[in-house]
Amino acid sequence: MIDDLVKEAEEKLQDIFKEITDISYFNSKKVLDAFHKYKVSESHFAGTTGYGYGDLGRDVIEQVYAEIFKAEDALVRNQFISGTHALTVALFGILRPGDTLLSITGKPYDTLDAIIGFNDNTSSLKAFGVKYEQMDLKNDDFDEEAILKRVKKGNIKLIAIQRSKGYSLRKSLDITSLERIIKKIKEIDEKIIIMVDNCYCEFVSKVEPSQVGADLCVGSLIKNLGGGIATNGAYIVGRKDLIKLCSERLNMPGEAKDVGASLGANKMFLQGLYMAPSVVASSLKTVALASYLLERLGFKCEPTWREKRADIVELIYLKSKENLIAFATGIQEASAIDAHVLPVASSMPGYDDEIIMASGSFTQGSSIELSCDAPLKEPYVLYLQGSLTYEYGKIGVINAIKKILKD
Ligand SMILES: *Cc1c(COP(=O)(O)O)cnc(C)c1O
Repeated sequence: MIDDLVKEAEEKLQDIFKEITDISYFNSKKVLDAFHKYKVSESHFAGTTGYGYGDLGRDVIEQVYAEIFKAEDALVRNQFISGTHALTVALFGILRPGDTLLSITGKPYDTLDAIIGFNDNTSSLKAFGVKYEQMDLKNDDFDEEAILKRVKKGNIKLIAIQRSKGYSLRKSLDITSLERIIKKIKEIDEKIIIMVDNCYCEFVSKVEPSQVGADLCVGSLIKNLGGGIATNGAYIVGRKDLIKLCSERLNMPGEAKDVGASLGANKMFLQGLYMAPSVVASSLKTVALASYLLERLGFKCEPTWREKRADIVELIYLKSKENLIAFATGIQEASAIDAHVLPVASSMPGYDDEIIMASGSFTQGSSIELSCDAPLKEPYVLYLQGSLTYEYGKIGVINAIKKILKD
């Protein structure tokens, strides 16, 4: 039965797959043009050690990133522990005591709780006297009226926008919504700094937030732009003065971008970026297939298989705890690494609820590789993302569905 359904799905998905391939072609061209413009060479693979002065590969990677994002500058470093760390560096780098941070996409991703200071952590922005305000989305889009009213009141230093849904049930935000709201905010107060958490959204469309007015974009290299090749790291791209502040926070005042040994990372970062458009496309095809199949089997999916996607994440309402565990087990069983391991729910640092995760990945926690995670609570939703190739994604999705159907 599942084989027939997969055949039907792939026929129905032809136009969607074609569009995904077109976007991947466009973004591949963008990457290649940037490599050529900056004459990326084999000698750039050799990284530095120690202080990391004169790391030509590191510097060329940052030029290439800035070019791809049409941004003034970039900070692309293996010293970033994670995407969360890069967001932390950006926020602490820019905000000063007394400043106000406003999130206009509701509560940010769970791992930012301690950074903003929801739990009175003594190292938080709040502990340093940074004020925080939040505006929830309205009908899965920006609450424009409320946001513009607040902006008119003044005294906001930085507005944070999170595009991907994270562990919420909302839709992810596409570039046209971003463009509209950023334009209106800047019309009222052009000094407000717009920071976009771009995790999971890179290369999903042809345009990045820095091209529609965002001052900073931040993301992880064990997601989209690492292409499954980068084994750690994150990036910040944007305005030159802001990148300087971020680099002085990551490294030290005075030395800014000029230090930080890349060790062995340069080749991985370049090769990962080179692969990224195609890997993002494989991930998109995998979740498009999953959503088609699961919807046909009566499970609600967000986005639906027909909808335009803003990120690589599929939210699946699996109806029961048993289904969550079965699906995650099916994904794990079809992984390349640790396929023999049974996923069990547990608490995770930085996350609120018990979570079950499947990630048999080459890089620990990499979610550009086929993976899924689900908080074990109602409404029993699972977040599915990644796959380095469509074929491996398809194998995983079929196996996960078979587990649910006890097939
Ligand atoms: C993954 C993610 C983060 C955090 O990135 P890590 O690398 O896991 O720390 C932040 N925001 C969003 C929307 C994410 O998806």
